[in-house]
Amino acid sequence: MNGRMVITIDGPAGAGKSSVARGLAQRLGFEFLDTGAMYRCVALAGKRAGVDWSDPRQLERVARAIRLDCRGDVILLDGEDVSREIRSPEVTSLVVHAAGNREIREILVAMQRRLAGGRDMVSEGRDQGTIVFPEARCKIFLTASPIERARRRWREVSARGETTTLEEVLEQQNLRDAQDADRALAPLRPAADAVEVCSDGLTADEVLRTIETIVSDRRHGQ
Ligand code: C5P
Repeated sequence: MNGRMVITIDGPAGAGKSSVARGLAQRLGFEFLDTGAMYRCVALAGKRAGVDWSDPRQLERVARAIRLDCRGDVILLDGEDVSREIRSPEVTSLVVHAAGNREIREILVAMQRRLAGGRDMVSEGRDQGTIVFPEARCKIFLTASPIERARRRWREVSARGETTTLEEVLEQQNLRDAQDADRALAPLRPAADAVEVCSDGLTADEVLRTIETIVSDRRHGQ
């Protein structure tokens, strides 16, 4: 095949996008881009700058001033590794201010296209197949039922030592799902030419193999 190939993986929180995207990139020797981490970084920078969240222009100013470096799993905010800090519950609840802001989305979308320029890349998020890379040759929409996603997430955060209940995780997740699906800007939805994969009842490895087969079909022209 000539030229670069972008593979997009979109879907709701907790469907397993990150581990699949990372695993797929590794197997194919592609770069991996976690676009959610970029929105999280803007929210973290806003928190650190003490912005007034009711005035979107303050966060926009912060977004224009910061430097982000994305290197696979590691994300640097003005040179500092914030890969862990951006996953905190507080940043998770603030990220809506970045994700729902038109100007911030424009800045990050431009950055995502620049990062993909000329490279083979697996790019993961909510709008990668619909808005950022509409010409991508292979688009995956990865889902799982709400309860299965909440269960996985709950196991993950419990393993990190955070005390929370499955009900709380599910409640937070429902809120984020609704925010992602109902927002006016880049709402979460599958691209018309995306292949939908539901990961319910599948191990991470089975999901990866399913997606690898889809990618291989697309690479070789269906
Ligand atoms: O995937 P992750 O949970 O890290 O994403 C954090 C938030 O960033 C999501 O809740 C979503 O609202 C937003 N997001 C987005 N567009 C993307 C990736 C993430 O709006 N491409």
